[in-house]
Amino acid sequence: MLVSKLFMPTQREIPSDAEIVSHQLMLRAGLMRKVASGIYSFLPVGYRAFRKVEAIVREEMDRAGAQELIMPAILPAEIYMSSGRWDKFGSEMFRLQDRSGRQFCLGPTHEEPFTEAVRDNVRSYRQLPVTLYQIQHKYRDEKRPRFGVMRAREFVMKDAYSFDADEAGLDISYKTMYEAYCRIFDRCGLDYILVDADSGAMGGSGSQEFMVKSAVGEDAIAFCPSCSYAANEEKAPCKATEAGEPKALLNVERIATPHVRTIDELMKYMKASSKDFVKTILYSADGKIIAAMVRGDREINETKLTNLLDAAELVLAGAADIERVTGAEVGFAGPARLKVDIPVYVDLEVATMTNFIVGANETDYHLININLLRDFRPTKIVDLRTIEPGDPCPVCGGPVETCRGIEVGHIFKLGTKYSDSLGCMFLDKAGQEKPMIMGSYGIGVGRTLAAVIEQHYDENGIIWPLAIAPYQAIVIPTNATDQTILAIADDIHSQLEKAGVEVLLDDRDERPGVKFKDADLIGIPLRITVGRKAAEGIVEYKERGTGIVSEMTANEAVAKILEMTKGIK
Ligand code: ATP
Ligand code: MG
Repeated sequence: MLVSKLFMPTQREIPSDAEIVSHQLMLRAGLMRKVASGIYSFLPVGYRAFRKVEAIVREEMDRAGAQELIMPAILPAEIYMSSGRWDKFGSEMFRLQDRSGRQFCLGPTHEEPFTEAVRDNVRSYRQLPVTLYQIQHKYRDEKRPRFGVMRAREFVMKDAYSFDADEAGLDISYKTMYEAYCRIFDRCGLDYILVDADSGAMGGSGSQEFMVKSAVGEDAIAFCPSCSYAANEEKAPCKATEAGEPKALLNVERIATPHVRTIDELMKYMKASSKDFVKTILYSADGKIIAAMVRGDREINETKLTNLLDAAELVLAGAADIERVTGAEVGFAGPARLKVDIPVYVDLEVATMTNFIVGANETDYHLININLLRDFRPTKIVDLRTIEPGDPCPVCGGPVETCRGIEVGHIFKLGTKYSDSLGCMFLDKAGQEKPMIMGSYGIGVGRTLAAVIEQHYDENGIIWPLAIAPYQAIVIPTNATDQTILAIADDIHSQLEKAGVEVLLDDRDERPGVKFKDADLIGIPLRITVGRKAAEGIVEYKERGTGIVSEMTANEAVAKILEMTKGIK
């Protein structure tokens, strides 16, 4: 392929709205183009890399015995209503109506239509197990689309669904998918870890995420260096802490705290530590106001809270609701003396505290020496906070550490959640009707591609692993008007092309520096430069990743590239 003919609009400038390296490089290298927020086109060079990831996913799914099909992206509301997810997805679901007013959505994930397809066509245990998959566009109206295709609103997902006769069968199907995922991410050249995950709107009995370690990852991972425990911070349980020595309960006092608005200001003013304070945060859970309480220096884990409340949408309560419920301005909420009776959920750790400080539900006042049960009755005492470095590992008790990760894949044991609600039954050996035991398995193709870039780049651009490089090699004649140089470059290019190597020839009449810059930016792994020594039959061979450069004959360079790319496609 000639670079002069390539539709590859590279940019020198770093696009202003691209915050992370992969997003910047994908735009600068002309791999993709933004159409709207969270909605992108892949351009030819980017699409080649994208299709390689897709091909690896497809190969490994097929190898694992999963069968590919394709479902529509536009799906009738009823399918999602019968599982309860029409409501549960909330505003993340793109919804639309046809001309006669019938409601549809753009599929955010396809458990329901797959379950229906199997329900309507599989009757007996003899037809099980079966694992089906598709590689297809998904639609989610994400709250914060960002980072290019990393968190998009339209994105391609490989989604697979397994149907088994029993739990033991599910364990096997799950393990098979797990192994396929490991091969996929290994082949993509990713450094990843497997973590326990929250099952979210998906439901089911357990799930794990494949996380690519990266400082720009949107997920936080808690892991234990002493045992193999690793979990998404959303999920990692915090153990109940031991209560200290019992202390005498002091009398509640109402303290004036004028002009303090933040916890820091309050602590300074009261000469107390944030560990003596319990913050009371008001949320609106599907429109219902509730309070959640954690120690002043802790973070409320909104995933744990959402799951506890089984809410579709959890948002911080607005000022008007806070004022109505507490009778005070924002910033003085507390659990006692509320104007309106609302459910109050208290973190486990708070249950070990005595004589703590809370908001007084009165503007410019706090209460000190508050104690659970004596001064207020919580609705529930439960694990509500986010794990932090140094907290005990839920498995071995050792101190955990945290790091950031990009979730590229997610595997779920769904159990019978969807087969029950959608009536996906089969007859077992004894002729008894039973629900199928399901699993679901997703990989974001675009996100995986972006994650590869996050782990493979330098100051000059992308460094594609050979397995997913849009082109494996590039031949650069340093002077496209020199006939000797051009003829040798052309010959190398056609030899490689004939041998099946995906190769570019930079035939543009540009300075060599410009050509090298572009080749580096788009990340072509192998390069042959035909220059000054062309007349002597000598060319330069260079590897983008290792930086290895050496001079050799044209034939040797061709042989080297054939050796490097052997077995890659
Ligand atoms: P996240 O927590 O990042 O929103 P999720 O848990 O909602 O992800 P799943 O429903 O498990 O994601 O989807 C399976 C896979 O699809 C994810 O592992 C990820 O690779 C990909 N994916 C999910 N949401 C997006 C998105 N908005 N843009 C690109 N890829 C996505
Ligand atoms: Mg999501």
